[in-house]
Amino acid sequence: MSSFDVSSIGKPPLIGPRAKRRHVRSLTGDFPEVDEKGQEKWPRGDEKSWKAALRDIHAEVPEITKSVVTHVQTSLGRAPYNIDDFGAYQAAALSVRDNLIVNWNATQVEYTRKSPKRAYYLSLEFLMGRTLSNALLNLGLLDNYSSSLSSLGFGLEDVLVQERDAALGNGGLGRLAACYLDSSATQELPVWGYGLRYKYGIFQQLIKSDDGTQLEAPDPWLDHQNPWELPRLDVTYEVRFYGHAQRWGEESTGRATWSGGQEVLAVAYDVMIPGYGTKSTNNLRLWESKPKRGFDLQSFNAGNYERAVEASNSAACNHILGKELRLKQQYFWTAASLADMMRRFKNLEKPISEFAEYNAIQLNDTHPTLAIVELMRILLDDEELSWDSAWSIVTNTFFFTNHTVLPEALEKWSVPLMEHLLPRHMQIIFDIVTVEKKFPGDRDRLSRLSLIEEGFPKQVRMANLAVVGSKKVNGVAELHSDLVKKNLFPDFVEFYGKSKFGNVTNGITPRRWLDQCNPALSALITDTLKLDRVTAGRTVKHQNKERLALFVERQLGVKVDANAMFDVQIKRLHEYKRQTLNILGVIHRYLLIKNMTPEEREKVVKKVVFFAGKACPCMCVPFLLTIRLIVNVARVINSDLDTNKYLSLFFLPDYSVSLAEILIPASDISQHISTAGTEASGTSNMKFCLNGGLLVGTVDGANIEIAEEVGEDNVFFFGHLTPDVEDLRYQHTYHPIPVEQKCPALAHVLDTVSSGIFGGDGVYEPLLNTVRQGDFYILTDDFDAYIRSLEMVDEAYADRAEWIKKSIRTTAKMGKFSSDRAIQDYAQEYWNIESIKL
Ligand SMILES: *Cc1c(COP(=O)(O)O)cnc(C)c1O
Repeated sequence: MSSFDVSSIGKPPLIGPRAKRRHVRSLTGDFPEVDEKGQEKWPRGDEKSWKAALRDIHAEVPEITKSVVTHVQTSLGRAPYNIDDFGAYQAAALSVRDNLIVNWNATQVEYTRKSPKRAYYLSLEFLMGRTLSNALLNLGLLDNYSSSLSSLGFGLEDVLVQERDAALGNGGLGRLAACYLDSSATQELPVWGYGLRYKYGIFQQLIKSDDGTQLEAPDPWLDHQNPWELPRLDVTYEVRFYGHAQRWGEESTGRATWSGGQEVLAVAYDVMIPGYGTKSTNNLRLWESKPKRGFDLQSFNAGNYERAVEASNSAACNHILGKELRLKQQYFWTAASLADMMRRFKNLEKPISEFAEYNAIQLNDTHPTLAIVELMRILLDDEELSWDSAWSIVTNTFFFTNHTVLPEALEKWSVPLMEHLLPRHMQIIFDIVTVEKKFPGDRDRLSRLSLIEEGFPKQVRMANLAVVGSKKVNGVAELHSDLVKKNLFPDFVEFYGKSKFGNVTNGITPRRWLDQCNPALSALITDTLKLDRVTAGRTVKHQNKERLALFVERQLGVKVDANAMFDVQIKRLHEYKRQTLNILGVIHRYLLIKNMTPEEREKVVKKVVFFAGKACPCMCVPFLLTIRLIVNVARVINSDLDTNKYLSLFFLPDYSVSLAEILIPASDISQHISTAGTEASGTSNMKFCLNGGLLVGTVDGANIEIAEEVGEDNVFFFGHLTPDVEDLRYQHTYHPIPVEQKCPALAHVLDTVSSGIFGGDGVYEPLLNTVRQGDFYILTDDFDAYIRSLEMVDEAYADRAEWIKKSIRTTAKMGKFSSDRAIQDYAQEYWNIESIKL
């Protein structure tokens, strides 16, 4: 699709020590250096290009070169002699941004002129990754910028890697939001994203070299000016917290006045989202919190002041933030977003009763559920509508995406906390409960349907609120959407009927996850004239593996054999994703090879295993040991001279979108091995398969639909199915069988870890005990099948020509998993919006 320089594969990698964030280099002086003859020495590039762009001489240089040089001079205030790769990145980014702003304006003017129905995607996370490479690709300017930068003495790759990832989130949910923005703009759909402008992105992960534990460092991603945002200091809204809500009159579901408390200012920052091959450029509006000027200082002690402005502080995971702050973040963001939508709607001068005909709001998980209550508050208290009219507008505006069926991940907020922080919203939630009581049903059913969970304290169930307040609810893959109906909300399905519950299988944008991260494969796909696709496919894969090998060598100082099979598992560390199963499998393989004769070893398929992923530090303590185990197993087996030719293992720190862009194209296989019924969809499975890495996985989430598309003989499935899992857990609790009996191979691996050969002095026992006792994620039940599936991978890999065919077939059959398809589903089946052509 793009004509990005294919030969750059195998050249210096996209990330490397050279890409390390450099603080602006100390200036070497304002004048060019002079050589012995008194001639000016141009430190970089082609002197004529610089001078022409600076208008020092009369000569033609491309507009782009002029624009970059102008930004060096004026925006950065630097002399050309003093520009390093980071300065070149900044100038190039500002120059690209000029294009984006022009397109952005044209798009927004057109939206205003045509006043179509719009959709808003509310997500607490946006995992955008780098923007420059993506913007150049979408604008079709890669080659032009590449040659302009080159004339100024910079390599495009070196410049691109200067950019720091925008990591405003944790994982899949945030990356999904980013892919959906790309697809919405590409399809010229009037969709805006709304999120928070965190001062700190998700933490940077460091691995302590002595014992392999994870350390978390802050990610001050805004330390240098962020060229991709446009501050809208004039777009501000006041957001209230605490205070007092006074009802009017007797009617229980009537109006109220909310006053007092604190007010914080929400300030808008706009991030331009370019579509691919179109001028259409959408908006991601991020809110920053600011203290309100001239506010009541007396009622505002120093402590409160700090807390008032921290609402957009950090994209950390739920639990570290503290409950109150998290709830504050959620309200701050939803209130500002709704106020903004309401202002835009009011400009249309339509009656408020038509709000839902002009606005659709998608809730990405339960985090923005307060928007439902906030819109009720606006319609009741500000617009003075009746309860029924207000509720009808609300339930025609919102749509809710559920992302998990794990009970511990379902959001709940304590009633006393909500009453304290958002007294008016708590009233409205109780009013919804009152109306809800009119539903027929026995007490048990009513308590399951209820928005309030009894207990001390009582809790608001955000998922139930989201279901009740939305027009439609969807899961993110077929299996998951079925589980949402059968296990999570069966009573709601009975009450509202099946049509309220749908499915939109997740998707990924092929721009970032093919064209950008794997230009050679992208070119191969579009080159229909290529006769020998197997040889070409093999070459592309090998080049990507060499690129990764070089990257690892630069990062960790270790050589990696690009001829070995590359086996990758990269995702957030979580028990249900079962990285533990993988590392125990690696140990099993190591012990097998260790016990072989040298002749036997020669027959082994050589393999390199890669892990990456961050562990939220609030996670259950035993599981945090998994990273440590991986790192220490790596230390032992990578230095075992008997075996390290055949098996090696790497944990790459600080997993990010940019790291994924290097690892994924290089994979021969990737692992998606969650306990059946626990992974709602997964999206990295799609990225790997699109890049021709075959899938080893359980019958879970989108793995199932991937197998349907690419054919079961092109994936390696193993393990118990979803309906078995509950029975197995029952068995573990009431009729446990010791692991020695049930799965001797696994017992041997566990004992080996206990024996201390990977160090740790008993430190891993709590982790091993989660497998030996209880085994909630059924490792003991799946281990043998898992090992067998990896043996089948080895067998298949031995026939390399057939393997490459499988790989090419897999890539070719992944069309369904484009986020363009997913966004079309949302636009047609949910939002009812249409494209706006510029
Ligand atoms: C795609 C992606 C994810 C989601 O991965 P899963 O394996 O589906 O959980 C998480 N983080 C990053 C950086 C990604 O690119």
